Amino acid sequence: MSSTISSRLSEQRDRISRAAVEAGRSPQEITLIAVSKKQPTRAVREAYDAGQRDFGENYVQELVQKAEELRDLRGIVWHLIGHLQSNKCRFVVGLVGRVHTVDTVDLARELGSRALRRTRTAAASPGAVRALEAGLADSPPPSTVPLSVLVEVNIAGESSKHGCHPKDLGAVLEAIDAQPMLRATGLMALPPEVEDPKDAEPYFQEVVRLRDLHGGRARLPELSLGMSHDAEVAIRAGATHVRIGTAIFGSRCALKES
Ligand SMILES: *Cc1c(COP(=O)(O)O)cnc(C)c1O
Repeated sequence: MSSTISSRLSEQRDRISRAAVEAGRSPQEITLIAVSKKQPTRAVREAYDAGQRDFGENYVQELVQKAEELRDLRGIVWHLIGHLQSNKCRFVVGLVGRVHTVDTVDLARELGSRALRRTRTAAASPGAVRALEAGLADSPPPSTVPLSVLVEVNIAGESSKHGCHPKDLGAVLEAIDAQPMLRATGLMALPPEVEDPKDAEPYFQEVVRLRDLHGGRARLPELSLGMSHDAEVAIRAGATHVRIGTAIFGSRCALKES
């Protein structure tokens, strides 16, 4: 069992490298996010031991719990890739390296004010914050580095999905830019489920088009696109972050239903 995650991980790394080279891109441009939602912490440890550092979680409660259990893993970077409710913002600030799912002006404001509050508290009383974070050994001290966020776009107008309507993207980006402790780094999208991964291509290209419409690569260098079944297509379209779960960890256990 213990070699499975490790060998699947290296398969996925090879897969990403191959797709990058085929697309005329450098594999270094692409971050593999191992999506560990509904996987036990021992699976995360196994991936970590195999060199993986970026992990994606969908549910804030599960993320907080896992991060706590895995706080001895130096240099681990958590990515929130699931919907974020405003009242959960305070839990993710200081814990995650990236939030991929900012999709409303209100959420940008709340997350931004939580991030700012944390910075101010840190400035006023570093010791207090450190005490607050005593559970999080090795986490970097509260800093003045803004939290990187991506805007999730609901690319096909699916009512079952979160993400902002493309016409609201400008407003959400402005709301993020107005927050001193947030930095918009890119766009994220989850295209409709398609049988043939190639059919996801037009959706990915639409994300690229939206990025070009809103400042291009200079303003929004990151694209969080692609999962287990369509990573190649996403990389061809320009993905910088691919979010792969089942191809690394196998099927998700029923730790918690969404
Ligand atoms: C679950 C999930 C993934 C991973 O999907 P797999 O098909 O298991 O690779 C990627 N992105 C998001 C937003 C997810 O919710």
